Amino acid sequence: MQLYIRDLNKTYPNGVHALKNVSLDIPMGMFGLLGPNGAGKSSLMRTIATLQQADTGTITMGDIDVLKEKEKVRKVLGYLPQEFGLYPRVNAEMLLDHFARLKGITNNGERSKVVKTLLERTNLWEHRKKNLGGYSGGMKQRFGIAQALLGNPKLIIVDEPTAGLDPTERNRFHNLLSEISENVIVILSTHIIDDVHSLCSQLAIISTGEVKMTGTPLDTVAKYRGRVWRKIIDKQDLHQYDRSKLISNRLVGGRMEITSVSDSNPDGTFEAAEPTLEDVYFNVVGNSLIGA
Ligand code: ADP
Repeated sequence: MQLYIRDLNKTYPNGVHALKNVSLDIPMGMFGLLGPNGAGKSSLMRTIATLQQADTGTITMGDIDVLKEKEKVRKVLGYLPQEFGLYPRVNAEMLLDHFARLKGITNNGERSKVVKTLLERTNLWEHRKKNLGGYSGGMKQRFGIAQALLGNPKLIIVDEPTAGLDPTERNRFHNLLSEISENVIVILSTHIIDDVHSLCSQLAIISTGEVKMTGTPLDTVAKYRGRVWRKIIDKQDLHQYDRSKLISNRLVGGRMEITSVSDSNPDGTFEAAEPTLEDVYFNVVGNSLIGA
């Protein structure tokens, strides 16, 4: 099963054109949606999750018309929003049981089995009696995944999931995501390029409401081979370079590394470098020069 998005447009009442003719083919597995803040990622996620209307366009998944058959979508959808309200004085087992009931699992025996399985799968079983108010950021995210997995969804939407997680929690969350992405469509919306690189088999970069590129991380990066040039300079010398030719700069050990994308060495003093997904991203989205 694939998700097909065609010519999706959305303009908010305040005049912001948040989605501009967005078309995407999203296959099974993990699909990364990358873009800066304000690019339109959440608008797209909310539209797919049937939480808001598009002005024009279509979305289909198998035989479901996503924009029209909202109930059908909700039956196969697991959604982990950017922020989700938790009841701090309720424990994880009780709250998941409550969500499972809302999802329509009415049989008590079946429900307690489902709740147990999901809490085990997200490594929360031993913390099931703890109130959610005492959960760490990572535990909350894993609880979010547990609730998103109720009812065996075929489409899982995860919006900006790793903000505020420490490296161990982030790792654990990644492993969990890649485990669940077999045989389902998982759309991961994020501005963290590394997360997409390590987790997703396909990606799209969107900016100012438009799809700027799509592909696999490997192919995307391979296309830049031979065109990425880097140079280490003193921070104060940045002004000597034509900034319109640089895609990014970053501090490395107190000095500055500048990067340019070009068919030839910009001024003969740069060194050829292996491209990264970050280079692709900055080249596509526009440069992000610090101190510029
Ligand atoms: P992202 O998730 O990539 O940060 P959003 O989809 O949240 O992007 O926002 C895209 C654009 O639409 C931004 O300019 C944002 O300010 C605007 N926007 C988002 N939601 C609304 C809304 N409910 N009303 C008006 N403007 C909105």
